[in-house]
Amino acid sequence: MRDNRWLELKLQDIWNRYFLDIEKLNDVKIRFGRKARTRLGSIKKQDDGSTLITINSLLKIGEVPEFVIQGTIAHELVHYAHGFSSPHLKRFDHPHKGGVVGKEMATRGLEDILILQKRWLKENWKNFLDSHHPRVATKRKVRRKKIKRYAFLLKR
Ligand SMILES: [Zn+2]
Repeated sequence: MRDNRWLELKLQDIWNRYFLDIEKLNDVKIRFGRKARTRLGSIKKQDDGSTLITINSLLKIGEVPEFVIQGTIAHELVHYAHGFSSPHLKRFDHPHKGGVVGKEMATRGLEDILILQKRWLKENWKNFLDSHHPRVATKRKVRRKKIKRYAFLLKR
């Protein structure tokens, strides 16, 4: 059962395994948010000083492999480590420029998860969306859909 409690355990697990050197300087919460087609996760600083990681609720569905969720949580934790939406010193001007997230994941031993995640999304995400989160297609949207690539999912 993938609920918010399960998500919290996954966050703890990934933090302990791959981000142990990154001090938890504030309260970091994680929860499932709304379903989305193009965003797997996000990280935001809250008004009370805590950090909130939100995960696309489509990832609750059992056919999404766990490494997709792990990769998404790790991606957001890299932002936290780099000082985005966190009290840590800001290490870059932009959260994604120069592929800094992927590089950081690789140096932390998360490259395998990243590769598996990218491959799964490339091969499955489109059909997965069609069966679990279809949208009302208009001609314009359909045309746009054709030229979209799925790498952008990992750039958020
Ligand atoms: Zn990102």
